[in-house]
Amino acid sequence: MSPDIPFPSYLEQKRQLTQWKKTHPWLGAVHSQVTQDCVKRLHNTWERFKSKKFGFPRFKKFGRYQSFLFPQFKESPIKDGFIKLPKIGSVEINLHRPIPEGFRVKGVRIVSRVRGTVWYAVVTIQCDVKVPDPLPFGRGIGADIGLESYLVTSDNFRVEPARFFRDLQSRLKVLQRKASRKNKRSKNWEKAQLKVAKLHHEISNARKNFHFQTSHLLCDQADMIFVEDINFKMTAKGFLGKQMLDGGFGQFRDLLSWVCWKRGNYFAQVDHKYTSQICPECNAHTGKKELKERVHHCPECGYSTSRDHASGRVILQRGLESIVRLDESERKLSAEKSALPEREGWRGNLAIPNRSFGVSPGIYDGRSVLPGIAISR
Ligand SMILES: [Zn+2]
Repeated sequence: MSPDIPFPSYLEQKRQLTQWKKTHPWLGAVHSQVTQDCVKRLHNTWERFKSKKFGFPRFKKFGRYQSFLFPQFKESPIKDGFIKLPKIGSVEINLHRPIPEGFRVKGVRIVSRVRGTVWYAVVTIQCDVKVPDPLPFGRGIGADIGLESYLVTSDNFRVEPARFFRDLQSRLKVLQRKASRKNKRSKNWEKAQLKVAKLHHEISNARKNFHFQTSHLLCDQADMIFVEDINFKMTAKGFLGKQMLDGGFGQFRDLLSWVCWKRGNYFAQVDHKYTSQICPECNAHTGKKELKERVHHCPECGYSTSRDHASGRVILQRGLESIVRLDESERKLSAEKSALPEREGWRGNLAIPNRSFGVSPGIYDGRSVLPGIAISR
């Protein structure tokens, strides 16, 4: 391609695709929409590169292109334990859950894992019902994500990091060492690589499972869940990098927000600045804590608790305040019409059920909408 030609658009590349099919007949062996999606992916990567000025598209060498998409289906391709894919044919599958009634199959993404020995078909389904995003209501908790305990909520509920990860990691190290001693590209090397890939897959499945279980555990306890908006990728570059990546905090937060959405719980991220330096009882700044300092002790009011519990409580307060702030513009309008509780009153309302987590239904059922919370989007 000559450098004078302007950057080819998606449509232009798609047009070229038909030309290439004439000169490279083997391209015809792949379903046309799959090749088009491939071009689209490249196009999206270029666009992202152009707008962000970084992330130059990488050439995908053999074994690096691990998924492809069938974007359209006229009728459901899944029948009697088989999936029928254009140009590939019927493939036996292990159907993890049936496609719910009223949904139709929108697309299927085929994903390859463990060096092409494990294959998944990810089915996207669609339904015409619009599901609204959950609104803030009921009982809230703040969750502090950290290294010592995996997570501590504002109720001082702790989730410890799953211990089996460490065993798996040391097994991985042994396998990796063995694999590195083999002659590259030899038969034994391939076998050893496969073992490493299998264990990697196992670890990532175990981690995801742990994240799902923890997310559901949190959703069982509250209607609103708040976490910090830490950029885990940046933090992982620091000296705690390895452990941070092991924990997969970014993935956990994404899954948590998804589980919340699915279960109708409200999820929000709050500003992470100084969450470990503010006293949740009296709002006093207690100064920077060293990482090894595990206890929060407030010289102003004498409140003392574990460090992560204190920041969990600060996160909760910020979360609740963010809801009130969202409502501020509406408060002015509606305050004349209906007597809304004062801001302090609100906190009082929220503070009662938040003090302990087996809420007695006599005080607060935890499910009713709080008075006055009306948020428009
Ligand atoms: Zn204090």
